[in-house]
Parts: sequence; C-alpha cells; structure tokens
Amino acid sequence: MARVLTIQGEVDPKDLGVTYTHEHLICFPPPVVMREDADFELPRVDKAVEELALFYQAGGRCLVEGTAIDYGRDVKALIEISRQTPVHIVFTTGFNKGRFYPDWVIQASVDELRDLMIREIEEGAEGTGARPGVLKCGSWYNVITPQEEKVTRAVARAHKATGAPIWVHTEAGTMALEQLDILEQEGADLSKVTIGHCDRNADLWLHRKIAARGAFVGYDGPSKVKYYPDSVRVELIKGMLEAGYGKQLLISGDMGRRSYLTAYGGGPGFRYILEKFIPRLRDEGLTQEEIDQIWIHNPARWLAF
Ligand SMILES: [Zn+2]
Repeated sequence: MARVLTIQGEVDPKDLGVTYTHEHLICFPPPVVMREDADFELPRVDKAVEELALFYQAGGRCLVEGTAIDYGRDVKALIEISRQTPVHIVFTTGFNKGRFYPDWVIQASVDELRDLMIREIEEGAEGTGARPGVLKCGSWYNVITPQEEKVTRAVARAHKATGAPIWVHTEAGTMALEQLDILEQEGADLSKVTIGHCDRNADLWLHRKIAARGAFVGYDGPSKVKYYPDSVRVELIKGMLEAGYGKQLLISGDMGRRSYLTAYGGGPGFRYILEKFIPRLRDEGLTQEEIDQIWIHNPARWLAF
C-alpha cells in the first residue's frame, strides 16, 4: 500500500488534500548564509504555527518542509509545530547545495550518505523516531560540483532502497537535465523526482524536456515579482498544460524568509497561492480540474511510496 510519510506517521495519499510541495517552517541556515542575509533564518515555532493556521484557513492541508540537514533542519522543533497544527507536514532528509555542506558531508562517501538517509527514513531522524518523507539533493549555478554529484548519487541510492520521492534544488533553474542524467544513471525512477525552482529559469522548452523525461516540474516563485511578474508564471503553466504536462506540475511558494511570512510581519505568506494566485489562474482560464490536479492529485502521486 502506497503511503505518504508525514512527521506524525503514515497517511493515505488520498487524504492529503491541498498541498504545497516546497516551503520552510523552521531553519537555522549555515554561517555562509547568515553572514549575507539573516532574513533566511526562521527560528520560531510559534510563528510557524501561526503561518500554518493562515494556510489551513485558506484551504491548505499538507505542506512539505524542504529544509535539508545542511540548511539547519530542526526535527524536534518540527515535531512541536506538527503537534499544534491540523496541517500534515512532510519533512526532508538529504542536503541542499555544495556551499552549505559541513565538513562531515564533504568527508563522507556516497554510501555513508546513502546509509544515513535510509536510516532516517526507516528509523527516524535525530533520535526522534520521526521519519522524513522526501529526499533532497542540489547543484550550483550552471555547475554540478563533484561533491554535489556525490550527494545526488547518494540520494538516488537511498531512493532506490526506500522508494522515497526526491526533490532537486537547482540554482536559478540551471542544470536540471544534467541532474536527471545522474539520477537516471543510478537507476532512479524519474517519475518520483521533482526538479525545483524551475520557474527561476522561465524557459518553457526546458520545462517540457524535464517533463518528457518523466519528472515533475516544480515552480515555487508565485509572488516573487523581484524576479519577474506572475504573468510569466501563468504563461509557463498554460504552456505546460497545452503540451499535456498538467500531471507533472507542482507549484509552491518557497517562502523561506521572515520577510515573506505574514506571521513574522512580512508578506505575502502562505495564503498567497490559495487566496490570490489560484483565483487569478481561474480568471485566466484554468479549470478547477486543472487546479486540483496541480495542488491535490500531483502532490499525492509524487509523495506516495
Ligand atoms: Zn527552499
């Protein structure tokens, strides 16, 4: 029986409901991030619970916490958050991109990293018994470093051993096909892989190529007008639907800054997609069936294993 692994245990994929597939609730980023911009740190359990309440009121029912081990994941805090919200939380094992790796990751072999991730999925993370439901790897801007390739191979092997889905960080949407090549070489099932941040590289040809390989195309930039307006994302979504790839789209907000979250006094927060972006998609011609596909059925299919 396929199931989704939430932090509170196994859930039937049919029971997930509206899901955001890449967000952050709590994280303590490494010094290399904090020196540049402390806005990325999300230190408060109460603020996460408050933001989740807004998400739930707007219709949200499940959220994937994308904070990897090397980005300052806090499993105990996540458990505390999950006890104070009706929202299903799926959390992550694995690693982000090379510049965040601590020394022990750099020193570790592929199979040592594989074993660590398998252990977390089978037995629980950080001695808690809470099991992550998603694997993560990543690469850099137009480069996959040898260390990142090692982690990608380890993630593919942990996926093969457990069946867990994979989320791939791309830097500004680059190196997506090359990451798929590595995962494929390792024998990963690409229908369980999501390439994240694809909309940072607003190149429909590329997104169709990713989908043609069987993977999910992840957009996580709605509201981030500093990159470009949402009109560009709407056109990408329509282009993917026209090409018949509506079943391979996952759209989330990646609100990984205090200044993005309503609970911290920022905006637009977790409500944005449900209360502004989806109504806009309806206004621009998307059907309810297409919207349910993107936010209910696709996440359930990706997360189930
Ligand atoms: Zn993120």
